Amino acid sequence: MNGFVRVTSGGLAPARMLGSLVQGGRGVNPSRNEHTIAVSCEVSGRGYWSGREVRVVIHPASLGTGVRLIRSDLPSVPVCDASVSQRYDASLRTNLADGEASFQMVEHLMAALYALEIDNCICEINAEELPSLDGSSFGFVEQLSNAGLIVQAAPRKRLVIRDRIRIGTMGGWVEAVPSRAGESYFEYQLSFDDQTPIAPQAFGVDLTPDRFMREVASARTFVTKDQADQIRGSGLASHVTNQDLLVIDQDGPIENEYRFKNECARHKTLDLIGDLALVGVDLIGRFTSFRGGHNLNGQLALKLAEMAALESEISQSGFFRQRKAG
Ligand SMILES: [Zn+2]
Repeated sequence: MNGFVRVTSGGLAPARMLGSLVQGGRGVNPSRNEHTIAVSCEVSGRGYWSGREVRVVIHPASLGTGVRLIRSDLPSVPVCDASVSQRYDASLRTNLADGEASFQMVEHLMAALYALEIDNCICEINAEELPSLDGSSFGFVEQLSNAGLIVQAAPRKRLVIRDRIRIGTMGGWVEAVPSRAGESYFEYQLSFDDQTPIAPQAFGVDLTPDRFMREVASARTFVTKDQADQIRGSGLASHVTNQDLLVIDQDGPIENEYRFKNECARHKTLDLIGDLALVGVDLIGRFTSFRGGHNLNGQLALKLAEMAALESEISQSGFFRQRKAG
């Protein structure tokens, strides 16, 4: 895979510059400017649930745009902001809708954009469900990193966690706690019940573009064989084979192999990153999920978005400046 190159200009630098990977990111260089991609790129495939062929074309966008999703197959080409305020609950995936502009399974694309620090882009999508690819973010990361990065002329907003927030129950929760050294750390603790063939495991990462690419992006979606039988029995995902994701029974993945020993915990970390990306700012803190899923992630994202909006209001009112001066 070609490396990511930072183009340090106001946004008029040459489009594609391939070279060695430049480490950066929230922990290493926490205050950074917004980014977009240098050139458009695209990813195609079929949706897991619908089986529909879909093409995602990702375009550069100006400062302050955020991530916007467009239904290019509909006559009115409706737009939905990739924001937690547009999220609605669904089983085993994260969906967004704004009127006719509805999208399913956005989390793997969102994780790739967030981890690679692509803040502004327009994604034209010609179906409701995003492509499942191999069940991971790898296909998105590959195309986005080839497209290269442009540094834009304003700082990216950040939310620094100052107090512990926990959402959920003893049996499953997600929490945000202050970071020790300004890092942005994501962790998943997997511990399903005794009947599951998936062993307890955990994974955590100080998020940088480089570490995401190497340690998280290729971790795939998984289901147990019982879940797969249930989904296929209900007539959904009939085109999905055992090579398109991990279907796990007592002996491990069926007709497939793990890419990492703790691939399941890594994938859940990927989902956590993708779901919290909907806050729309850089998150400085330690984010951990214990047996959580998209629903709890969504609840935490909503809470964090409220906090970010409040901080933005306070800073605009000059409250922080007055306090510093006083
Ligand atoms: Zn996932």
